[in-house]
Amino acid sequence: MTKTKILLDENDIPKKWYNIQADLKTPLDPPLNPKTKKPIGPNDLKAIFPMELIKQEVSTERYISIPEEIREIYRIWRPTPLYRAKNLEKALKTPAKIYYKWEGVSPPGSHKPNSAVAQAYFNMKAGITRVVTETGAGQWGSALAFASSKFNLKCRVYMVKCSYEQKPYRRILMENWGAKVFSSPTNLTKSGKEILKKDPNTPGSLGISISEAVEDAATHEDTNYCLGSVLNHVVLHQTVIGLELKKQFELLDEYPDIICGCVGGGSNFAGTSFPFIRDKIIGKKPDLKIVSVEPLVCPTLTKGEYRYDFGDSVGLTPLLKMYTLGHGFVPPAIHAGGLRYHGGSPLLCKLTKERYMEALAYYQNEVFEAATLFAKTEGFVVAPEAAHAVKAAIDFARICKNENKKKIIVFGNSGHGHFDLSAYDAYNNKQMQNYAYPEKLITNNLEKLPLIN
Ligand SMILES: *Cc1c(COP(=O)(O)O)cnc(C)c1O
Repeated sequence: MTKTKILLDENDIPKKWYNIQADLKTPLDPPLNPKTKKPIGPNDLKAIFPMELIKQEVSTERYISIPEEIREIYRIWRPTPLYRAKNLEKALKTPAKIYYKWEGVSPPGSHKPNSAVAQAYFNMKAGITRVVTETGAGQWGSALAFASSKFNLKCRVYMVKCSYEQKPYRRILMENWGAKVFSSPTNLTKSGKEILKKDPNTPGSLGISISEAVEDAATHEDTNYCLGSVLNHVVLHQTVIGLELKKQFELLDEYPDIICGCVGGGSNFAGTSFPFIRDKIIGKKPDLKIVSVEPLVCPTLTKGEYRYDFGDSVGLTPLLKMYTLGHGFVPPAIHAGGLRYHGGSPLLCKLTKERYMEALAYYQNEVFEAATLFAKTEGFVVAPEAAHAVKAAIDFARICKNENKKKIIVFGNSGHGHFDLSAYDAYNNKQMQNYAYPEKLITNNLEKLPLIN
C-alpha cells in the first residue's frame, strides 16, 4: 500500500533554518531609506526590531540555529504531514503523483506561527515586553497572538476596520490568546488620528494599519513591531517547511518535478521552495520547475515591475527592490481570495527575476472550483490563498494526463479555510466575480514610484 501521510518524528524538526542569501550568485539589492534613498543599516531598524532579527535579515550564513525554546513550541504541531492526494489523483485520472505539505495543523491554522513564534522569542530575549502588528483578515494577527501567549508578551493588533467589522471570529480568536485588538484607524496613534480627521468613515487599509503599528513600536521603549511576511528573516523562519519536506521526499526515495505554492508576500512559498532551489542554484536539479501562484486581481509577479518601492501604502517603510504593482495599488473590494499585497519578498522576487522560479495567475472562480474539488476528494477545506496552489497542482496534473507523464507534483497547502466560509458561500451561490486588475491602472500606479538609479 502506498502511504497517504508521510510523517516525521519530533526529533526531525529542523535544528537550523536555511538562509538562501548564502547561495545567491549576486547579493540582494539593499533596502533604502525612504527619505534619503541611501542604503539603510542595522541602526535604522533598532527602534522597531530586536538585534537578533536584524542580524538574520542581513545574514549570509547558510544555516542559522533554531533555539531549543522555539523548537519546543514547534513540537505542538510540527513536523507537519506530507499528504499524497490519492483521491484527487483518482478523480483527475492522472498518472502524476500529487503531494501536499499541510500547514493547516498549527493552532492558528496556517504556516504563519512558524515565524510568529520565532519573532516573539527573539523579542522576549531582547527584553521587550510588548509586540504590535497589523492584520487584515486576521491570520497573521492570530499567529502573533498565539506566539505572544507562549512567551508572556503583551500583544496589540491593529485590525483593518472593515475586516474588524465583517470578520469577528478571527478577532475573538486573538482575544482568546490574550491579545488586544483595535479597529484601525484608531484614536490611539498620530497617524490614526490624522486619517480619522480627514475621513471618519474610512474602511481602513493594511497600509494605514502598518503605519499605526510602526508608530506605536517606535514611540514605546518596551515595544517592538512584527511583520508576517516579505522580510528576509520571516522567509528564513518559514524554511522549516521546505527542510521537512526534503526529508519527507528522502523517506519516499523520490524528488519532486514540480513545486507550486501561493504567493501573497511570499513567505510560505519561499519557505517551501528555497531548500529545493538551492539544488537548482548549485546545478544538482536544473530541470526542477518551481511555480508561484497569485490572483489575477493582484498580479504582482506576473504583471508587476521589478524595481524599488515602499512596503506600505503611505511611504514610511524602507524602499525594497521587488516586483510591485505600485504601493498605491488598492485591491477591488469584491475579491475574496486573499493574497492582496502590492509587492513581495525581495528574495523570492530576485529568484523569479533570475528565472529560478516562474509565476502563474488565476481568476477567483477557477480557484474556488479547484478548492471545492479538493474538499470533495481530499476532505480538507483550504484557505482561499492555498486554493491558488491547489488550482495550479490540478492544472499540472491534467497536463500530465494529456501527455501521459508520471510527474511528481507537490504544493504548499498553507492553511485551512474555516474562517473563510463566507467566501465559499459566495462561490457556491454563484456570487463570485472574476476580475483581472487592468494593465492601465498598474501603469498609472507605477508612474508614481520614486526613480532610483
Ligand atoms: C497569509 C497567508 C498567505 C499569504 O502569505 P505569504 O507570506 O505569501 O505566505 C497564504 N496562505 C495562508 C493560509 C495565509 O494565512
